[in-house]
Amino acid sequence: MTLPGHAFFGGRIVPYSEARVGVLTHGLNYGTGVFSGMRGYWNDEEQEVFVFRPADHYRRFLESAKMLGMELPWSARELAETATELVRTEGYREDCYLRSLAFYGDETVGVRLHDLTPQVSIVAIPYGRYIEKEEGAHATISSWRRVDDNAIPARGKIVGAYVNSALAKSEAMRAGFDDAIVLTNDGHVSEGSAANFMLVRNGVVITPPITDNILEGITRRTVMELLDKEMGVKVVERSVDRSEIYVADEALFVGTGVQIVAITRVDHRPVGTGRIGPIASALRELYFRVVRGQHPSYRHWCAGVYGPAAEPEKAAPKRRVDSSRLAI
Ligand code: PMP
Repeated sequence: MTLPGHAFFGGRIVPYSEARVGVLTHGLNYGTGVFSGMRGYWNDEEQEVFVFRPADHYRRFLESAKMLGMELPWSARELAETATELVRTEGYREDCYLRSLAFYGDETVGVRLHDLTPQVSIVAIPYGRYIEKEEGAHATISSWRRVDDNAIPARGKIVGAYVNSALAKSEAMRAGFDDAIVLTNDGHVSEGSAANFMLVRNGVVITPPITDNILEGITRRTVMELLDKEMGVKVVERSVDRSEIYVADEALFVGTGVQIVAITRVDHRPVGTGRIGPIASALRELYFRVVRGQHPSYRHWCAGVYGPAAEPEKAAPKRRVDSSRLAI
């Protein structure tokens, strides 16, 4: 992976080499942090990078922080503007990924969430596919169970909780699969290792509800709206049993990283025909038009990095950094 040239760190954009923490950092030792992953999409026609739904990603970021009792001195909008400024600073003219992190930066020993100081970083890197076989992935039901909301808040992107995702992902990949489908402790389908899950039966899309310990996915929300408004496909949120996947017509992972992945085999059984189905196929086509800013009805979800919507003077955080609230 190519390292970025810059990072937003300590309240400003600095060379990436200056964005460093010590080994005693609380967030590193105890996973006391939250993060967000967004994508920027290159639109060749307009010579523009569009960051997809940055304000919504940062709203969830701030909500995740709130669950850890972490107060950040920026609004979702200010963070979104900073993120577009960072991509502009990097000068990317290709698809990229933006990773934002808020973590307790204190170099101190003692597990807790109080009396600690948050630190925020944002970096952007060029990025392609997360799952290579987007048009036909092979998934397995994980032997690991999804972290329960009463153990670690499941609806947020909490750093420490990703040990759960990593266990599921590596187990699946080492066994020759592309990704894992993770169940809740009571045995319902929750989601993928880093993506939400949907299946299609008799033309209806079914997706596990938020209360089945899923992350409140932005792509899930996007896809539900596109299926309903643009494709006229009914979407039902309800619990899903594992055997229902084996008899589904189609199955999908949806997420910022995975984008829209057609799961065509699960545990060596074909899903439907064993090839990408009509809903996944049409949805992929539509989704990629939407995220690249090519669909006029959803242009408001796409934040231009170089265009008039992202003038440099608009991009700087409006509130100055209060160093008493941020470890620098
Ligand atoms: N579930 C998990 C565990 C994830 O890590 C992700 C990726 N952020 C998702 C679902 C999908 O969420 P989003 O569409 O907001 O990227």
